[in-house]
Amino acid sequence: MAHRNKAGASKASRAKKTPKETPVVTGPNMDSLGFLAMDSNVPGLSQVILQKLNMKSYDDYRSAVEGRKLCTDFGIRSYFEMFQKMEDTFKFCVECKKLPESMPDPKSLRRCKRCQNVYYCGSECQRANWPTHKKVCKKLKLVALDRLVEWLVFTGDIPFLTSPWTKRILEVRGWEDYFSMQDGLEEKLSNIMTGRYMNILWANAGKPKPEEAELLESVKRVMTDFVSRPATIGLGLCLFHLDPYAKPITVHVVGASHVETLNARVTDYNELSRMFPKHQGIEVVMVGVDVVDGPIMRPPLVAFGPRERVYLSSYKGLYHDFWESQVETQQAAWPDIVVGFHPGFHACHDLMESWLPTLLLLRDYKIPSLFTVYSEQEMKNSLKILMELETQITGCGANPFASLKPEQAYSNPNKPPVYCNSHYMMFWGLSAPPDELDIGELDGGEEERD
Ligand SMILES: [Zn+2]
Ligand SMILES: [Zn+2]
Repeated sequence: MAHRNKAGASKASRAKKTPKETPVVTGPNMDSLGFLAMDSNVPGLSQVILQKLNMKSYDDYRSAVEGRKLCTDFGIRSYFEMFQKMEDTFKFCVECKKLPESMPDPKSLRRCKRCQNVYYCGSECQRANWPTHKKVCKKLKLVALDRLVEWLVFTGDIPFLTSPWTKRILEVRGWEDYFSMQDGLEEKLSNIMTGRYMNILWANAGKPKPEEAELLESVKRVMTDFVSRPATIGLGLCLFHLDPYAKPITVHVVGASHVETLNARVTDYNELSRMFPKHQGIEVVMVGVDVVDGPIMRPPLVAFGPRERVYLSSYKGLYHDFWESQVETQQAAWPDIVVGFHPGFHACHDLMESWLPTLLLLRDYKIPSLFTVYSEQEMKNSLKILMELETQITGCGANPFASLKPEQAYSNPNKPPVYCNSHYMMFWGLSAPPDELDIGELDGGEEERD
């Protein structure tokens, strides 16, 4: 412990010498970009946790879990230590933001008993924080539980193999309907509940195992987090009247984050095949600057793959560059729909700037587009921007396939938790002001005329 204190002290003194910015992970700057903080800090498959565990990628983690690479390769000696390190990410006083390293006795950092999620340096801070914290304490308890259960994603227990949809997507009103379509759901859940890794989890988590019913709900919430994205794409196809039974479908996921591309391997976009059994072939291309290396880092398809299958590929770069270098040169298929999960262009000017060429491209080429956001307020702000850009809004609202897993803002845990893909909005081409509808088409197409 003394050694650790020393390391902390030397870090602090180094920081003093360079007065610019301290390279602390919990930067309030991340928080000002609310959604960015969300996206980079989704617990579980997050970069923060991989960093904490000295691992570069999901594959590192997976090999450690499977014992192919020893945990000691990453400086971790046991499951217990691994869970401790994950939890360390959350150890700072939520009131005064003090880190354990800067406290005389790091052990005096105490956890809120109810939610087991936030920490306090002492009872004074806890008392001062309670009026704010009590509003979210109950939800944060679910967050803390899901964070642990999400570990079962790495071990392969979650998501479990799902069944073909027996109802059409527009008849599925939400997750209750979704789970009711699952064959042998109880058996699948019970396999997870009694599985080897569930036992390892609670033997090492450093927290008491919750009641069976609570745990089951958590497993289901984590499950919805994985199905949410493909189901939202399916919803978009239906709302835009795109028929995967009639022809092959190309989906571009724009602004794909590293979490999305990491997850893509486990998210199982094959859910789309279960949603539209015997479809003509669905291609999903993830495009974004944060796309990570890995098995889906392969070129987009030019000719379609087999029917009834989902082909996943990716392109690392901005969407308008992708468009120019791949779509216009016919190295990638023209999209039937473009989907953006949490683009966040409403959040700040810089992000809007980087999204603008893409939004104008989607508008001018009249690509059916669907974007999701974390809350109703974010939807309102985003719609305002889309209307200013004179796009034609064709639909918006609460997403029946919003994830049920609450997300906490890592650097500001008392912010009310939000849900992935909570709301959606759709746009298609230019809006036509009613008084301009009567003007006939001009000759000469795109050329400007006075
Ligand atoms: Zn404090
Ligand atoms: Zn609490």
